[in-house]
Amino acid sequence: MLNCGILRFAMTNYSQQEEHGDLDVPGGVEAHDMNKGPEYGVILPTTVVGSYPVTPGHGLQSLFDPMRAAVKTAVDDQVTAGIDIISDGQVRGDMIQAFTGVVPGIKGQEVTGKVQASASPITVGDVRFARSRKNQVKGIITGPSTLAHGLHISTPMYRDRDELAMDIASAFIGEAKALESLGVTILQLDEPILSTGTADLDVGRKAIELITSSVRIPSCMHVCGNLSGVIDEVIKFPVNILDFEFSNNRKNLELFNARDLGGRMIGYGCVDSTTNTIEPVDEIRKRIDEGIEVFGAEALLIDPDCGMRMRTREAAFTKLSHMVQATREIRESL
Ligand SMILES: [Zn+2]
Repeated sequence: MLNCGILRFAMTNYSQQEEHGDLDVPGGVEAHDMNKGPEYGVILPTTVVGSYPVTPGHGLQSLFDPMRAAVKTAVDDQVTAGIDIISDGQVRGDMIQAFTGVVPGIKGQEVTGKVQASASPITVGDVRFARSRKNQVKGIITGPSTLAHGLHISTPMYRDRDELAMDIASAFIGEAKALESLGVTILQLDEPILSTGTADLDVGRKAIELITSSVRIPSCMHVCGNLSGVIDEVIKFPVNILDFEFSNNRKNLELFNARDLGGRMIGYGCVDSTTNTIEPVDEIRKRIDEGIEVFGAEALLIDPDCGMRMRTREAAFTKLSHMVQATREIRESL
């Protein structure tokens, strides 16, 4: 999924992002009781934000699908590391390419006509494979605002990125439903653009609502980066889980001291995904403890700050393993 480095490359309007970041009870999530919070069979469920380093495959099978081995490696590494809710690893492209290649109306990074749903689901094949390895899998879709701001509009069909974002959201309803049918545990939408101040947050919320209101599974929105300028708007988005980075952006934690999350859960980024430097288990444990103090253990899912596409496989695997170990130690102490 999002790699902040990849993202910076892909999104020309983007200035600060790395890989990827009294509540009006949002209208789009009636199907899932937001005051209850999804349950994952364990306290402090561990998960990933999305992308895993790409490990190319060899041999005959790779001729037919060069990325198949990379998907398998990403999935198996997550399982071996002990992650509770895994992803498909998002190895087939950065967060823009992975979703635009087969969407009618988009060619490369150009919007050339009206954006419409792809003829067949984009992520379902890899997610189905992930589900064959682990029951609890997170399905991930790049958010409409992030995609709209990562593309060039080369058609009079759209006056601005706001109109484009709404059509992208409509086009992704089918993808969300396909992931739901496949049995994913969580539907995650990645919207790193929202912390940059570039995207219209009102439009962003309506676009997300279009997707989350079309499914009954718990939804999550990942926004990385510094939340200080957008926090009041972002926590109104109609999702069950808000996923933010708290490792590389320690100050994000202070923003939540006096804010009501309306029963939503927090995806608590506690591992720095911007470096190959491995944090010791104790350090991650300390970060999680700080999160528990602010949010309470029942409200947290534990994950890295962002995707780890730009990391080495060894660094990504060790970071996940240390995160799982830190979480297990805390569970035992609760
Ligand atoms: Zn991110």
